[in-house]
Amino acid sequence: MISRRQYASAQQRAADLLRKTRIALKEDELKRIEVADMGLSELDQSGVQILTLVDTEKIAVKLLTLFPHQTEPEHVHPQIGAYAGKEETIRCEWGELFLYGPGEPTPHPRGHPPQHRRKTYTVWKEYHLLPGDQITFQPGTPHWFQAGEQGCVLWSFSTKVVDTADVFTDPEVQRVTVIIED
Ligand code: ZN
Repeated sequence: MISRRQYASAQQRAADLLRKTRIALKEDELKRIEVADMGLSELDQSGVQILTLVDTEKIAVKLLTLFPHQTEPEHVHPQIGAYAGKEETIRCEWGELFLYGPGEPTPHPRGHPPQHRRKTYTVWKEYHLLPGDQITFQPGTPHWFQAGEQGCVLWSFSTKVVDTADVFTDPEVQRVTVIIED
């Protein structure tokens, strides 16, 4: 959970990072940045800030903002009935991103998930994304990512989003953010 004040402050910090990109964004769009603490109550370490720009029955475009060293926990986008699951392209816009997927583990990974959750991170092939770099994950592929020291702004281009269906490796993750009043 997260307090109303923390939520507003995180929105502000995310908006400040987004402004650095010079992507044309309206003030009312910046006001609806979603703060996701993944139910872990340690937002600076685990979580992501999300600005959804397109969300239709077929595709989605989101701008994700990560604070310095903030980690989006490992997850997959599963098949749901006839839908094969979300295919997702992650593209770095600003800052740097350490992104992990299946394959030969990178010997000295530069991303460090929160130590007390490390066992819930199972894929360790590292991709280092700088502005303009991108990678596509097929549905059902576990992945997680962490910002570098300045934070990161990244695009998520995908097929239809069903966020609440995402399966996180860490059983403590709860995708719906609970806000408590200060
Ligand atoms: Zn994903």
